[in-house]
Amino acid sequence: FESKLPAVGTTIFAVMSALAAEHKAVNLGQGFPDFACDPALIEAVHQAMLAGHNQYPPMPGVPALRQAVADKIRAQHGRGYSPDSEITITAGATQGILTAILACVHPGDEVIVLDPCYDSYIPNIELAGGVPVRVPLTPGSFRPDLAAIAAAITPRTRLLIINTPHNPSATVWTAEEMRALEDLLAPTEVLLISDEVYEHMVFDGAEHQSAARFPGLAARAFINSSFGKTFHVTGWKVGSVAAPAALMAEFRKVHQFNVFTVNTPVQHGLASYLADPARYLELPAFYQGKRDLFRAGLENSRLKLLPCNGSFFQCVDFSAVSDLGDVEFSQWLVREIGVAGIPLSPFYGDGFDQRMVRFCFAKEDATLQLALERLRRL
Ligand code: PMP
Ligand code: GLN
Repeated sequence: FESKLPAVGTTIFAVMSALAAEHKAVNLGQGFPDFACDPALIEAVHQAMLAGHNQYPPMPGVPALRQAVADKIRAQHGRGYSPDSEITITAGATQGILTAILACVHPGDEVIVLDPCYDSYIPNIELAGGVPVRVPLTPGSFRPDLAAIAAAITPRTRLLIINTPHNPSATVWTAEEMRALEDLLAPTEVLLISDEVYEHMVFDGAEHQSAARFPGLAARAFINSSFGKTFHVTGWKVGSVAAPAALMAEFRKVHQFNVFTVNTPVQHGLASYLADPARYLELPAFYQGKRDLFRAGLENSRLKLLPCNGSFFQCVDFSAVSDLGDVEFSQWLVREIGVAGIPLSPFYGDGFDQRMVRFCFAKEDATLQLALERLRRL
């Protein structure tokens, strides 16, 4: 039997979480909060269960949640999506991205991804029979290189995947960069997946530039969001996808036969929770506080801080501390210092090693303080 994904092993996130647990290290590796979500959200789900919302919902999702998602996109980005035909609730962004890829990539189609990228994209493309084309983000700054993207487009290019705010580099696309992409794609039929799972973690007064804001991008885009990331419940695995009706019709054909539907009471709970926009509008300030605490703690250390404009990740350059490769250094850091991070090289197709590690600061302040105490020993 020939493996369909011969290059795939266990993800670096699971590997580092297991290592952290084994050594009782502070786990700033895998991206998940160690604090509780708002009790009001749990109460909303509880009430939905008590009210009897425990059977299959409609295939594309509970109507009230699709309406709430459409209202939120209109309020934040000024674009109207029809809850009936243009919004679908998914089992996390992971399923939304896979489903979008399966819906539009034919065997042999080229799909452009920007390196470094989230680890599910490439295996997803390969499962669809597509050919991944890796275009580097600008080395050093991790900003999109529009000329390189343009040069990678061929008549076989079906799809481009972008991610802002970006995992792992924490860069956030500017409106100018999104507009430049819109111009670049205008003469093409290339489709777009815009992975926006960190949309509510953008700092220093900057705004998240959703593809929904740019008509030429929105017309060709599947926009992916994650309630798990937004409301500190990564284990719930619920997200949403917005796309124009024609694209969404194809998306739903695949969705119908890979999950069919997503957890009913959680959808009802999220729908009522979303009625208060303060619940997501307060998130940038909340996460900026954590970012600032973590950065201040490393300011005078030998770890060099990279810019962090969004997401809940802080990358550091450890080359002043060690000559080890980034995977070996991350393992050493767990064993000897008691802090887990994620090396950046697994996010690259060729394992490019810049001696950088990513730390997740979606943690209790006390967790961050403990990690900082240890990291300052370096
Ligand atoms: N895209 C990116 C860039 C991510 O970091 C993650 C979460 N690790 C996902 C997608 C998947 O999100 P979810 O947990 O909602 O499936
Ligand atoms: N998105 C999370 C991260 O980047 C991990 C999710 C996972 O473990 N697949 O850390």
